[in-house]
Amino acid sequence: MKKREADVCVIGGGAAGMLAAGMAAGRGYKVILFEKNQFTGKKLRITGKGRCNVTNDSSVQDVLDNITANSRFMYSSLNGFSPRDVMAFFESLGVPLKTERGQRVFPQSDRAEDIVNALRGFMQKSGVRVVYESVTDIKTEDGHVTAVVTKQSEASCGGVILCTGGLSYPLTGSTGDGYEIAKRLGHTVTELKPSLVPLECKQSFCRDLTGLSLKNVTFSVFDSKGKRLYSELGEMMFTHFGVTGPLVLSASAHLRDYSKGYYGLIDMKPALNEKKLDQRILRDFEKYSNKTINNALVELLPRSMIPIVTTLAGIPHDTKVHDITKAQRTSLVNTVKGIRVDITQPRPIDEAIVTSGGVSVREVNPTTMESKKVSGLYFAGEILDVDAYTGGFNLQIAWSTAYAAGNNITI
Ligand SMILES: Cc1cc2nc3c(=O)[nH]c(=O)nc-3n(C[C@H](O)[C@H](O)[C@H](O)COP(=O)(O)OP(=O)(O)OC[C@H]3O[C@@H](n4cnc5c(N)ncnc54)[C@H](O)[C@@H]3O)c2cc1C
Repeated sequence: MKKREADVCVIGGGAAGMLAAGMAAGRGYKVILFEKNQFTGKKLRITGKGRCNVTNDSSVQDVLDNITANSRFMYSSLNGFSPRDVMAFFESLGVPLKTERGQRVFPQSDRAEDIVNALRGFMQKSGVRVVYESVTDIKTEDGHVTAVVTKQSEASCGGVILCTGGLSYPLTGSTGDGYEIAKRLGHTVTELKPSLVPLECKQSFCRDLTGLSLKNVTFSVFDSKGKRLYSELGEMMFTHFGVTGPLVLSASAHLRDYSKGYYGLIDMKPALNEKKLDQRILRDFEKYSNKTINNALVELLPRSMIPIVTTLAGIPHDTKVHDITKAQRTSLVNTVKGIRVDITQPRPIDEAIVTSGGVSVREVNPTTMESKKVSGLYFAGEILDVDAYTGGFNLQIAWSTAYAAGNNITI
């Protein structure tokens, strides 16, 4: 077995690992970063649909408000490396940024690859050595880390930063290895669940509408008691199992217990209240007065949705517009304002954008990211039990925790 020597070993060459390694090396430590893929930043390359929503240009308080689990744990590290600091950091590495709707920050080039390359350059300049091997264990002696082990080699070191990510999109390398290692070292790993994930629905019409994308609709989610848990305007899509798209992924972060009988309502015309929508439908009916109902709604709804909406509204498809009763019209208005989908379960964790749950933050120092159980062991990124809504907040968690670990690690 090959022997190596380092001051600090970083496990995982994702967003958190690359930043943490560069930071630690910049402070004069001899750093080895272990990455099990053939290259670093595999997940980072596909973030933001290949554009990388690198952070959210908002205050620390706003970021905290967008963190769904354990936001208090993030207070110190976010203040230490805030969204503004992240933006200044990438700009200083030669990646000009731009801010879009919802304060989402992207590289001006719209290329996630530029963020990956900037981090690779940062590591190289700081003197990080990257070893492409999969870590199987961390050795300790008297409660202090002493070495990192792979199948091919062992690297002795005085400090380890564990940044192996979560369980989602396992093809990117995030297969949850770090959770097992952390557990073996005595850490608690809280229940791992998918978050920011597509949702499976009972209604078979979702399958019939597969591929149909809806823009400028409102998607609201309720529990079985009718309590509204989420409501936003935006984009969503039907798929063979249910619904997906930005609105659905965001909604899923608000759903923690699927036995609660969650259901969603899609408002196809959020800009019109019931009265205005009724007037609009009446105008269409006048224009198409000799047509059947399904042919009279072509200007109101996507064609493939029309038979589904009229069925849900209880109007036979061959009903002539001039025969439609006021009650039927009211039913049509109510349906267009609230197409119901009953949510049965989330898609599996490997289809989720992030993993909710992870290494318990009670066992980690929030300022330094050091383990309270094993001296010299640090954590950063998605492996921690912290996750957030969409908008660049999850990467911000990775940057802030990695900065804290890389900047505070001592051996
Ligand atoms: C499709 C998609 C799009 C996303 N878009 C955004 C976005 O636009 N904005 C945003 O804020 N967040 C986004 N996210 C979430 C974001 O990507 C993660 O929160 C972030 O990558 C977490 O960083 P990390 O470094 O902790 O983990 P990862 O980026 O997952 O990195 C972990 C690394 O560890 C390596 N590794 C694992 N086990 C081992 C081992 N045993 N030995 C060696 N190496 C190992 C893996 O190969 C991997 O390279 C997106 C996620 C997905 C899946």
